[in-house]
This record gives sequence, structure tokens and C-alpha cells, in this order.
Amino acid sequence: MRLSKAFIPTQKEMPADATIPSHQLMLRAGLMRQLTAGVYAYLPLGYRAMLKAMQILREEMNAIGGQEFFLPALNPEALWIQTGRRNVPNFILSIKERDLVLAPTHEEVIAWIGGMHIQSYKDLPQIWYQIQTKFRNEPRPRSGVLRGRQFIMKDSYSLDRSFEDLDKSYEDHAEAYRKIFARCGLKFFEVKASSGAMGGSGSQEFMVESESGEDTVALCEKCHYAANMEIASSNVSPIGRLHDGERVEEIHTPNVRTIDQLAAFLKVDQSRLAKSLVYRHDGKPLLILMVGNDRLNESKLVAALGGGELEPIEAGQLEALTGADGGSIGPVGLKGFRIIADKRLEGANNLISGANRNDYHLANIDLQRDVAVDGYFDLRTIEDGEPCPQCGSRIKISHAIELGHIFKLGTKYAEALNVSYLDENGEKKPVVMGSYGIGVERIIACHIEQSRDEHGIIWDKALAPYAVHIVAVSMNNKDIVLISNQLYNKFSDEGVEVLFDDRPNVSPGFKFKDADLLGMPFQIIVGEKGLKNHQVEVKRRKTGDRRLVPVGDVVKDVKKMLHE
Ligand code: ATP
Ligand code: MG
Repeated sequence: MRLSKAFIPTQKEMPADATIPSHQLMLRAGLMRQLTAGVYAYLPLGYRAMLKAMQILREEMNAIGGQEFFLPALNPEALWIQTGRRNVPNFILSIKERDLVLAPTHEEVIAWIGGMHIQSYKDLPQIWYQIQTKFRNEPRPRSGVLRGRQFIMKDSYSLDRSFEDLDKSYEDHAEAYRKIFARCGLKFFEVKASSGAMGGSGSQEFMVESESGEDTVALCEKCHYAANMEIASSNVSPIGRLHDGERVEEIHTPNVRTIDQLAAFLKVDQSRLAKSLVYRHDGKPLLILMVGNDRLNESKLVAALGGGELEPIEAGQLEALTGADGGSIGPVGLKGFRIIADKRLEGANNLISGANRNDYHLANIDLQRDVAVDGYFDLRTIEDGEPCPQCGSRIKISHAIELGHIFKLGTKYAEALNVSYLDENGEKKPVVMGSYGIGVERIIACHIEQSRDEHGIIWDKALAPYAVHIVAVSMNNKDIVLISNQLYNKFSDEGVEVLFDDRPNVSPGFKFKDADLLGMPFQIIVGEKGLKNHQVEVKRRKTGDRRLVPVGDVVKDVKKMLHE
């Protein structure tokens, strides 16, 4: 492609509305433009990189026996009502007048097809995939294409006879994912993950460590424990029991609102304070007890409750339900609430909590004696530096971007949509499903996050929109024009994707800056000085190394380096 004819609108200035490096560079290098929040138009250069990623995805999915589909983005709302996912928060965009929804993922449609056509154990296993647009009602997309309201996903689904067979399909996917990300030149790691809105029994995420990430992960450098913060646990010590047999005592705590104020007022360690958090779970009042300043982890809470809808209790109703406002609620004598507690509090005594009377607390609470706790669960968000649950070393908490996610779904969708088969004995069984996703834009944006410098993008050859970028230093010099045209034609003839900066009246400095910003793996600089010795300069974008190469050897040399 000749730059004089290409549509690659680069921009020198830093875009004001983009805060993370990949977003800034994708705008500056003319890869995409934002149409509206979370909705992006890919321009030719950006789309070329996406096509490269999609080709890698296709090849590796085909290699594990995947068969490619193309499913509709518009789905009847009824299908989503059948699986209970119509109202998953932030999931579904809908077109009200026609009872249609824009699909955020495709388990429903896959199960609909499976339900029509899978009959016997001989029809299984299957791996079905597609590369297609997804829509999600993401609340505040602000990380560029990393979180779009419309984005492209490679999504695949396995259909198996049993959970053992599912394990194999799941492992095949995990292996395919490792190959995909390695081929894309990404440095990634794997973490245990929460199954969220998908449901199911096991799940794993493929992550890229990045300050720009919206996910947080807990990592142990010693034993390689790695988990998403949504499920990460630590070996933090339980609160335990102190002196037995002390009677519950009411204490006056005027104007004390927070855990820190209470600890200071009573001169006790915050770990003796049992904080009460109140919610409605599927409409019913729920009280959660946590240790002092421990933070509640909502993903763990939802998992502990087995799903369902959580909402805060409206301030107006709090006093009617408990007898006190937010600062003085506690578990002792509380009627009408289900009470659960964090594992650290299991069996603890000598605790202080609200008295359900404004400005009063109770001391010496013994959870075994005084409270009907309906289950202890790991509900807390772990903190940096806490002991690893596997080996006890310090856990490090980092930001990360989720590239891909694999789930063991089990039979949830098969049951909701009647996907079953007859086994060898003629017995009817539900099909066991798995679901596996990779975001195409995330591959591109993660690569740019990892591979860039102050001048621009540094494309890996696997994803680079073009392998080679020829810079004709001046278009007013006959030799330069002749040789750069020859090289351009030769690269094209030999199947090397090449961009040729043949713009007249653009200064060399400007062309060099653009070449670094666009970031193709090799730059070939055709200038007057080199040509005197019949040489051109070959610059490797990644290292910045430059070499003078005889004109006749350039194509061969660069091709060799591209195949290394
Ligand atoms: P996140 O936690 O980041 O919202 P998710 O758990 O909702 O992701 P999945 O439903 O597992 O994601 O989707 C599979 C893959 O699709 C993700 O691993 C990610 O690469 C990509 N993806 C998900 N949501 C978006 C989005 N809003 N924009 C771009 N890519 C996305
Ligand atoms: Mg999501």
C-alpha cells in the first residue's frame, strides 16, 4: 500500500479523552475512531491487525477440531428468558419493539441448535465456534477497545457426553489458548476465576499483567498461585476465641459511626469488631458479618449465596427492620434476617457489634452462643502482602487485563433448553457443555500495551498490519524514487505485506516519526547517502538497530528475518 493513497489518519497530539496507552496509540496510529461510548469504528490499518488475530484464532480452533459457525447477533428475547439470563445486570441490550435482544454471548443459540439436532451419543463430542460481534450493556466503558459495548469475540462451545469428556474439551481449549497467545507474541499468565453470569463448575482466565487492566489478580511468586481477586483467598488468621463465659454487655457509643471510630473510642483492635452489612437477597433481608476493616467481596458473596439478586436495603427501611440506622446494626436478637458470616469469624467470641439501638453497641458477643449464624463463607477481599493460601509466602496484587476465559458450564443450558442424547443403553442424558471466549480487540490492545515505546507501537510480525514500511526520504530524487519503487514491487511480488511512504513534500523527519508511530517490524529507509554505495538502511523497530544493506539483498534479508 502506498501511503500517498492510503487512509491512515495519524495524529501527533495526544488524544485528550484517552487515558491508557493502547487507547492513545490506537487513535494516534489511525487504527480506529470512537463513534460513541464503547463503540468503535476500525479503520483499515486496525482491521488488518484484527484479521491477523482472527486468522490465528481460526487456525488454532480448527486444530482442535472446532467447526466454524456464524450465528445471529439478534436473538429472540424468549430464548434468554428460558435460561434465566434476560436480566443479568449490564449484560443485555435489547430492541424493545420487536422483543429482540443483542446477544452478549451465544450459549443460548448453541443450545437451541444442539437441542434440535443432537440425538445420540454418536453425535458427540462437538466443538462449535464462531468469530462474531457481541453486544454488552457495559456501564461506563473507558478503556478504549478493551471494554466495548460492541466487540468481536471468538466464542466456542463444547458439547460432550459426560463431565470427564468435558474435562478433555476444556484442556484442549486451554492448550489452544496457550498457542494462540504465544503466536500473538503476548506475555500472559493463567488464573483461577469466578464463573460469574455463566454459572458452571470450573473456570480459568488468561491474563496480561498491565496497569491499564480493570481486573485485579493475586499472584504468588514462590509457588505460582494465581487467582482473580473475585475468588482469591489467603491464609489470613481467624479471629478465634479469647476468654469464655463473659456476658453480653451494652455499651454507649455516642456519635460513633465507623469501624475506626469505634476501635479508637473503645481502645480495642479492629479485629474484635464484627461489622454488619445488610442487603436484600431475592427480596429477603440478609445480614453479613465481617471482621472490622475487612472488605466484602461481592463476587464471593454471590457465589456463596448460589446466585440470586442482591440489592441494598433502602435507608428508609433500615430502622424499621433492625431498630437502628446504619452505624448500630448487629446480629444479636435481630429478627427476620438470614445471618451469614465471613470464615475468619467462625466460632469467634468476645466480639463487639451493633446493638440495634442507635448509639449503642454490644460487647462480649459469642457467635456460637448468641447468634444463629446460617453459614460461614470466605467472603473477604484479600489484601496485598497477605500469606499465600498454598505456601504462605507474600501474595502480590496486580492489575491485569482478561484476554480469554474458559468455563466448564456443565448441564445448565442443556437442561434449560432441552439438549439431550441417548447413551449406549438408550438412556436419555443431558449434554455437558463448555464455553470459551477470547476478545479480538483485547488481543490487539493487550499487544500494544505490552509492545510500545514513547514513539509508538512496536508490532509483532504475527499481528503487524504490514511487515515492512519503506520510507522514501525524498520524492524529488530520481534514484530514491526508482529504488524504493523497485523494492516496493519486489516485496509485493514475494508476498511480503509492505507499506510505502511515497508521499511527496513530506519532510523526512515527519516520515520517520510516522514510521515509528505505526510500528511495522522493519523499516527500509531509502536515502541519497546510502544509494551512493547502492545501499539502503534497514531498521528493526523493536530494537532500533539499523544496518546498511546492499539494495540487491534487502528483500532476501528481510524475508529471512521475518521467518526467524
Ligand atoms: P470482563 O470481566 O472483562 O467483563 P467477561 O468475564 O465478561 O469479561 P467473558 O464473558 O468471559 O468476559 O467473555 C470472553 C472474552 O471476551 C473476555 O475474556 C474478553 O477477552 C472479551 N470481552 C468481554 N467483554 C468485553 C468487552 N466489553 N469488550 C471487549 N472484549 C470483551
Ligand atoms: Mg463482562
